[in-house]
Amino acid sequence: MQSIADRVKLHNGVAMPWLGLGVYKAQAGEETEVAVKEALKVGYRSIDTAAFYFNEESVGLAVRQLGLPREEVFVTTKVWNSDQGYDSTLNAFARSQEKLSLGFVDLLLIHWPVPGKYVETWRALEHLYKQGKVRAIGVSNFKIHHLQDILDHGEIVPMVNQVEFHPWLNQVELLEFCRSNKIQLEAWRPLTRGEIFSDPVITGLAEKYQKTPAQIILRWHLEKEVVVIPKSVTPERIRENAAIFDFELSPDDVALIDSLNKDRRLGPDPDHIDF
Ligand code: NDP
Repeated sequence: MQSIADRVKLHNGVAMPWLGLGVYKAQAGEETEVAVKEALKVGYRSIDTAAFYFNEESVGLAVRQLGLPREEVFVTTKVWNSDQGYDSTLNAFARSQEKLSLGFVDLLLIHWPVPGKYVETWRALEHLYKQGKVRAIGVSNFKIHHLQDILDHGEIVPMVNQVEFHPWLNQVELLEFCRSNKIQLEAWRPLTRGEIFSDPVITGLAEKYQKTPAQIILRWHLEKEVVVIPKSVTPERIRENAAIFDFELSPDDVALIDSLNKDRRLGPDPDHIDF
């Protein structure tokens, strides 16, 4: 991973950028449009949105306005919890597709594993994939037992699992399970929204590599072969978060960051969702 253009090949052969822009909590309209355009200008080629973020229209508009060939930009969206189930997922996807107005969607994810529903939801994603409406399908916030359920009852192995992942929650077993099943892991909240920036290990490494804490943490994700989607609506930070392809962390320093793990979730536990 020496260039922002580098991609990982998912198990169905689709190439997904290692770095993407997250847009959770980016306001629909100008805020999202400016951020997406800035990211694409800097070289990002992946945007992570969701029906639940209420900014799919702005993402689609910004991608179209920037005018890159459609195939160059990788757009992810997600099916929200209240839309799960077979028919309602198909309807929800149709709404997302219309809002994005980009033709196909690159990656469609089940946002959370809603008990009793996610297997049916997965069948709807398989259907959309077979129809060619989405280039890849996956899940989000799935633990090993949820993934095992899909492996046991589904036809297609998810291409991606997007989960909370950062130095305080480095998901050793889940990462290994995903690797052995050719499911690409993708990290949300990779920067802990900045909470970890003042950790002395991180500030020490920032000093050593002459990089910012955010850059050290994002590079750590890449060294672990985890796709990363930091969110920012601030142009300087969007650029800063992309300047992670001109250095490498030594294996010892990766291990040092690994040692910060405390299995600490900043977001909800997927086994206890009530939304
Ligand atoms: P992040 O860890 O990406 O942190 C984002 C926050 O950090 C923002 O407040 C941003 O501020 C700030 N920030 C970004 N870059 C820097 C920097 N270089 N220096 C200082 N501050 C910085 O958290 P998110 O929760 O947003 O996660 C990233 C993405 O993951 C989301 O946007 C979304 O796409 C996805 N996600 C998916 C979930 C799921 O359930 N599947 C759940 C949560 C997130 P500012 O914008 O003001 O610059």
